[in-house]
Formats: sequence, structure tokens, C-alpha cells
Amino acid sequence: MSATILDGKAIAAEIRAEAASAAQQLIDAGTTPALAVVLIGNNPASAAYVGSKIKACAECGIESIERTADSDISESELLSIINDLNNDASVHGILVQLPLPDHIDENSIIEAVHPDKDVDGFHPINTGRLVAGSECLAPCTPAGIPELISRSGFTTSGKHAVIIGRSNIVGKPMMNILVQKAENANCTVTCCHSGTPDLAVHTKQADILIAAIGVADFVTADMVKPGALVIDVGINRVDDDTRARGYRLTGDVDFDSVSQVAEAISPVPGGVGPMTVAMLMKNTVAAATRLTE
Ligand code: NAD
Repeated sequence: MSATILDGKAIAAEIRAEAASAAQQLIDAGTTPALAVVLIGNNPASAAYVGSKIKACAECGIESIERTADSDISESELLSIINDLNNDASVHGILVQLPLPDHIDENSIIEAVHPDKDVDGFHPINTGRLVAGSECLAPCTPAGIPELISRSGFTTSGKHAVIIGRSNIVGKPMMNILVQKAENANCTVTCCHSGTPDLAVHTKQADILIAAIGVADFVTADMVKPGALVIDVGINRVDDDTRARGYRLTGDVDFDSVSQVAEAISPVPGGVGPMTVAMLMKNTVAAATRLTE
């Protein structure tokens, strides 16, 4: 069997076009949706992520405001930047690019962002609303996955979804999204992690297997049920002398072997990554719409 490749690039373009059309409606009504992106230090991966978010804003008619600071910024100085953005009525979304330098408490920063402007969906109020199944700003990466699945013509309802990873950014919100009695959800959910013995016993039960581990090519064909839908969230840099930049990006799934047993698989790059940025555009327009109602 050779799996269907889920085209995250094309589906993300669809979602960005929808966000652009919703942004235009806001602009016609007198509000330009605006996203503030806060980048601390000079981590090249973070700078690349911020660059792609700013580019997507421009494409969607969303104004982007970049706030940068050196990695020696104090926590109170960063809190003051966030406070200013919270109080600025022309800003509708605030994103603080993670990770932050070690001397800054990430949770304090996440909790400082106003929940209505929390387009990353990391604030505990949005986490709570997500768990309760209420309307909220949901974390972009897991929120994009049911979109990727359903817009590719697959269903989630009644399926057994097995997630590998329990981070606050991917694994845990993924679990809470898929377990809801809702469209593009309604799964039976198992969440595996570094404390799970006999991981393959669980992954082999998955109709939908979602890997968010951060270890290149971790999931191999023998861990996958034939006919499963496999979603690869991982983004790992692997040394590669044949590339001018000296590395290539690869996922958490061994694509070559797993694509022989899966029914469908998301590639890296071009799968979950572009969906994350598109969902950020969607969240920003949703935040701007709510804040101007
Ligand atoms: P994390 O390091 O916070 O979490 C990794 C999780 O994997 C942990 O919960 C851990 O329990 C689990 N894990 C580690 N080793 C394991 C093992 N041997 N067996 C079972 N579980 C194990 O990482 P994260 O922030 O959740 O990100 C995961 C991956 O997804 C990374 O590669 C990251 O770069 C990528 N990512 C991609 C996007 C995107 O837009 N595509 C967004 C966020 C994260």
C-alpha cells in the first residue's frame, strides 16, 4: 500500500484565503485586524517561525506588529511589553514566540497575555474553556489537525485516536480537542508519553496516530496499524551535508516505511507546519471579530 499524502500546504492556503476574506469584512467595517509578535533573543528557528507568521499576516490583510528584545531582557520588562499590547485597542492578537530565555518564567508570560488576545491559545482560561468544550482560542497546531483530516476527506468521529506526546502546546490540547462531542472530533482518545510502557501496543490500536515527540523518525511501520491515518507533528533538524544549509527537516514519523502501511500520512515539511500558521491567522481574525463586536 502507498499512503495518500495529506497536503497541508494546499489546505493551509484555503484557510488563509478564508481568514483573508473575514479580515476584509472587518476592514470594510473600519477595523484592521492586528497581530503583535514578540520575539526575544536570536534563536534562528524562532526567527524563521516569526518570519513565516508575519508573511502570512501580510497575505491575509492582517497588520503585524513586531516587538523584539535581546535575550537579556528582564521578566518585568517583558511583562511591561505585554501589558502595553494588552491595553492597546488596535492590537487584537498577541503571540510571544517560545521558547523564552531560561531566566524568564514561561507560565508567567503566558498568563500575562489577555485571554481575549491569546491567539496561541495557551492561557489557562482558554485551556479551561477548551476542556469544557466552550468557545475559545485553541492552540494552533492541534486545532489545525482535525481541519487537515476533514478537509482531506477523512472523518474523526468514532475513531480511536492515539497521541504520542503530552506537551501543553500539542499533546494535551490535541487530546482535549479530539475527545469533544463535536464536529471533526468525537474520538476515543489515548494519550501516550515518555512514561508509557509498551508504546507500540497502544500505537498499533490507532485509527488515527498523532506523533508529537520531537525525535526524528521515531514512529516506524511496525508501530502502525495497516490502514491508519498518521499525522506527523514533529519538526526535527537532521544534519545533512548534501544540503547547502547543512541540515534537513524531518518529522517524528519514518515517512518511507510508514507510508507503506498507512492509508494516509502528513509529510514533513508540508503537513502540519503550514496548518499551524494558517490557524494562527484564523484565530487572529476571530479575536479581532470578538473584540470589535
Ligand atoms: P515536547 O518536548 O514539549 O513534548 C514531547 C513529548 O513527547 C513529551 O510529552 C514526552 O512525554 C513525549 N515523549 C518523548 N519521548 C518519548 C518516548 N520515547 N515515548 C513516548 N513519548 C515520548 O515537544 P512539543 O512542543 O510537544 O513538540 C513535539 C514535536 O512537534 C517537536 O518536534 C516540535 O518541533 C514539533 N512541533 C511542531 C509544530 C508545528 O507547527 N508543526 C508545532 C509545535 C511543535
